[in-house]
Formats: sequence, structure tokens, C-alpha cells
Amino acid sequence: MSYNEEYQAALDNPEGYWAGQVDRIQWFKKPETILKQTEYGTYNWYSDGELNSSYLALDWQIEQGRGEQVAIYYDSPVSNTKQAITFNELRDQVATFAGALRGLGVDKGDRVVIYMPMIPEAAVAMLACARLGAPHSVVFGGFAPNELAIRIDDAEPKVILTASCGIEFDKQIAYKPLVDKAVELSAHKPSNVVVCQRPMLQAELDKPGDLDWYDFQQGAEPADPVAVKGEDPLYILYTSGTTGQPKGIVRDNGGHAVALSYALNNVYGMNAGDVWWGASDIGWVVGHSFIVYGPLMGGCSAIFYEGKPIKCPDAGAFWRVIDEYGVNSMFCAPTAFRAIRKEDPNGELSKKYELSSLKWVFVAGEKLDSSTYQWLSELLQVPVVDHWWQTETGWPMTSPMMGWDNPSEPRLGSTNKPIPGYDIRVLDGDGNDVEPNESGNICAKLPMPPGVAWTIWNKPQRFVDSYLTAFPGYYHTGDGGFKDEDGYIYITGRTDDVINVSGHRLSTGEMEEVVSAHPAVAECAVIGANDPLKGQVPVGLVVLKAGVEVDEAQVEAELVQMVREQVGALACFRRAVIVQRLPKTRSGKILRAILRKIAAAESYKMPSTIDDETILPEITGIMEEAGLLK
Ligand code: AMP
Repeated sequence: MSYNEEYQAALDNPEGYWAGQVDRIQWFKKPETILKQTEYGTYNWYSDGELNSSYLALDWQIEQGRGEQVAIYYDSPVSNTKQAITFNELRDQVATFAGALRGLGVDKGDRVVIYMPMIPEAAVAMLACARLGAPHSVVFGGFAPNELAIRIDDAEPKVILTASCGIEFDKQIAYKPLVDKAVELSAHKPSNVVVCQRPMLQAELDKPGDLDWYDFQQGAEPADPVAVKGEDPLYILYTSGTTGQPKGIVRDNGGHAVALSYALNNVYGMNAGDVWWGASDIGWVVGHSFIVYGPLMGGCSAIFYEGKPIKCPDAGAFWRVIDEYGVNSMFCAPTAFRAIRKEDPNGELSKKYELSSLKWVFVAGEKLDSSTYQWLSELLQVPVVDHWWQTETGWPMTSPMMGWDNPSEPRLGSTNKPIPGYDIRVLDGDGNDVEPNESGNICAKLPMPPGVAWTIWNKPQRFVDSYLTAFPGYYHTGDGGFKDEDGYIYITGRTDDVINVSGHRLSTGEMEEVVSAHPAVAECAVIGANDPLKGQVPVGLVVLKAGVEVDEAQVEAELVQMVREQVGALACFRRAVIVQRLPKTRSGKILRAILRKIAAAESYKMPSTIDDETILPEITGIMEEAGLLK
């Protein structure tokens, strides 16, 4: 396949190109409408087709003779557990679980919140919801009760599925008390909480509606896959926006299934029977697209790894998994490799393992620094592929097509070329294309290909306002960067108040709300500072109320604790520095864009609207002194 021809074909005739991909999946009823525009100016692909995503991931694989193939290899160094689950076994577990959920009154269109660690039961839960046509909303286990409560109130689930605990290295984190607290905080009350008891920690099932994972399945009638429309929602996944209210990104069934099949084969170069490892968590979009749905719908064996890249038991954990299961390709965030490199700079541990099954490694989620890229390429002697996407798109926007002959060569610092279907443009503030190598706003010309989300749960207008309004006719990714003369894309970072900590996207606005609630704080700005391991970490710049007599170190410790409790440990909010004042415009707006530049140690132009120019060097000095400018 030639990239240039395919790319041009998708550009010239998007509808024709994606009509040609319909038969990648097994529909119950093929779509007659390929592309439809909605009243909001958004798009739906394959809206009137009928299918079921759980059927595609399980039953269809079995019908093609893969019943005895392993669907999921569960590998959990933190609990000393390994399990190989075949497609037959997984289908049976999912069908029974779906039947039991139906017994609780969960039907097509009802929402189910899943708050679980990386155990295979989490995949069973997701696929069971999909089987019933009930959109699931997986919430990452690292989120605190307050964050879970916000999502419960937005998604209004009938049922919450959880486990007794998650495990961080050797520490058990009891989940049930967190869920109980979230339900206490939320206005919406689910009718049941179903708890998967793990042997290392048993939860109290003492609240009305609490059920045991296995008891509630007793006698359940296995459920067949329910036909849903191509445009019906498969899941809601919350992601951080620029405000404190997370956005419930809604993924459809039809476009998603076609896009994942296209990506698995063409972008990732994986085929049925291959062993694929998405080294992430089901709480993130990668977990949805490339731990659960993509590999299973494509007939691959998927690795489900519950652990960390290091200290499990050492920094050879990833190499051990690749060797043990014959992993053909994997995906993870660069931060994992930075952590491995820190522990084992010469990669000695990799020499203990046989890594010849590995064809290439994909990284995304945050910027891949050139030193990690070079270290990993030399160590593994396979292509290290940087590619770029986001929760909203659900699958990559730029990447070499590793499944095709002659995929485009890597270029240092670039996430490669746009994938067919994505017309990626770099626009200036007025919406004009900038010249090659000039920085601007990275946008995608509409329509975007199947699989991309087109709405926010219950808030279609918020989708339009967030993504389609700044540059009419384009989807605004929120990323900044440039394109070189050969069409390679370079992502330099977010242009909004979203930061990326270890590949996790977090809203600084959300943290600011927590910090501002401290009784001694008058105002604050939370910004992302560079971090050699995590890419970015949040730092609070805090102005104290006049006249309050407090110990600054004490305030910092209290703020760190508050963010940990109300947002979660994943925020990695560990520093708050006290400043006398924040830079503002004459109209009183905090100049966040400039603060971002200072924190990223980038040069900046003094904005003409600034109220007092002396504040910027003052803030730079304070941050330098606190060791925050790296
Ligand atoms: P998320 O929606 O959590 O997956 O985060 C998506 C954001 O992560 C993007 O908008 C980018 O800012 C960033 N990102 C993803 N992949 C890359 C990459 N390969 N290089 C640089 N930044 C990336």
C-alpha cells in the first residue's frame, strides 16, 4: 500500500475512502449512510449500521476459529498472579456477567461506572456493558472520591462496578471506601455497587445495594450481544478540559470499530494471532482502544499487565513480559522508559531476556525526548515509533503506517505524518495556514475520520464550543506545534491550561479550585514545570491573604495533601511556592500563557496588556530559587 496514494484518496473523498473500510468488521446490518452531518455541525459515521462491539471482540473471533487462542494474558507481578484466558472463556465470562447486569436492570442506553484496577474482571465488565449496549464509563483508579463523584453525577450510572483494592507496588489501596465516599458525595445514587473481592483485601459489603461480584452472577442467564446502531454510544470517557468540570467524551460503536481495525492493521502493523501489549491502564483512552477493544476485535492476544515498569521486581519487568509472552509490538508512554533508564542506564537487565519477537515499539501520550528515543532505539534495535493522538480522537492522528511497505522514516522530534483521514493543519490565530516550520495551533480539517468522538455526554454544545468554534471548519486539538516542508508534524505542547504528567492529562484549573479553597490562599495559578522523569509536574504559585500569619512550609504541605485527597495521587502535586503577586493583564486576568512559558523555561515576549512588567522577573527568580526551572 502506498501512503501517498491512500492519504490522497482519503483527502479527496473521505466518504468514499471510509465506505471502502466498512467490511473490516462484521455488521449485523451494514450501514447505508456512511457520513452524516448533525444539527451541531458535527459528524457521524456509519450511523444506521447495526453491530455489537462485544460480539466483534469475542463471538466473531470464535466464529473465525480463534476460540482456543488466548485473548488476554493477565500478568500481575504486584499480586503474583498470571492467567491466560481464551476467547471462549472470555466470551462465556462476559455473557454471564452481562446477564447478571441485566438482572440488575441494566439495559441498552443505561450507564455503568467502572472503577477498577488492571485485573481481567475489568475487561469482562467493559465487554459485558458493550454486550448490552449500556455505555460504560471507566474511571481511573487513581482518582480521588471527589473526582469519581463528579463523574457519577455526570454519567448517572445505574450500577458501579469496582474491586476491593488496587495495588501500587506493594501497597494495597482499598477501593470500596473510596467508592462509598464518592457515592456519599454525589447527588445521583446508583442502585448497586458490585465488588470484585481480591484475595489480598476483602471489602465490607455493608451498604444497601452492595453485591459480591461472583454471588450476583449465580444463576444468571448468559446474554447475547444486543444490536446497537453505529452512532450509539459505546462508552463515555472523562478527560480534563481547561475548566474544573471534566469532559465526558462519547465514543460511538460503528466508527470506533472500523477505525480500530484500520489502526491495528495499518498503523500498528498487527494481525490476528499476534501478541500485542498496550502497557497502560483501562482508565485511559489507550486502555480502551489498545488494551481491550482494538486487539481483541483484531483477533490478537492482549497483555493485561498490572504493575509498573520498575520495582516489579526490578527495571527488567517490561523485558520479562516481552520475552515470556512473545510480544510482537507494544505501546506505552515515554515516561515508563525514562523510569527504566534511570534505574538501569545501560539496559543490563534487557540482556537477560529474549526480545526477538518484538518488531517495533510505539510511544505516545507526551513528548518523546530525543535522549530517551536514542537510548531505547539502541537498546532494542527495533524502530521506536513516536505517534500522536488524544482521548477525543480515540486513535492516532499522526504515525508512520507500520503495516504498510516503506512506512515513513522517523524524524527526531516529530510524531511523523498524518494518517489517512486526518488533514492536519497548523493555523495562526486568524485561522490561516502558517508557513512550514512556523509554529501555530494544530487543527484537523473537518470532517475527521471514523472513531473520533463528536460529542460530550449530555453537552453537545460544549463539544462545539470546546473544539469547533475557535477555528471554524476545523477541529482544534489544543496542541501547538509545526509542520516541516515534508509534512512531518512536531508537537511542542498544549496551548491551553492542560498539563501532561507521565502521559496523564490533567487540568490545572481543577487543581486551582482545590488550592484556592485553602483558608490562607487569596489567589493562585497552577502551572506545569518541566520534570526529567514525568515530563511535566504541576506547581502552585500561591498568593496568601493579606495579614495571615502562617508558616509557608506548613501551607505547602497542606495544599499538597488537599490536592492529593481531592484530585488524586496521580496529579503529583508536590510543590506550592508562595509569591507576592501574580502577573495580570490590566483587566485583571492572570497571564497564564506567560507563566506556562516561564515554567517551561521558554523565552517569552512581554505582553502589551501586562499591568506590571516587573512581576515576571520576580516570579522567575522565585521559581529558580525553589529549584523549579529545569
Ligand atoms: P490524552 O487525551 O490524555 O491522551 O492526552 C492527549 C495529549 O497528550 C495531546 O493533546 C498532546 O498534548 C499529548 N500527546 C499525545 N501524544 C503525544 C506525542 N507523541 N508527543 C507529544 N505530545 C503528545
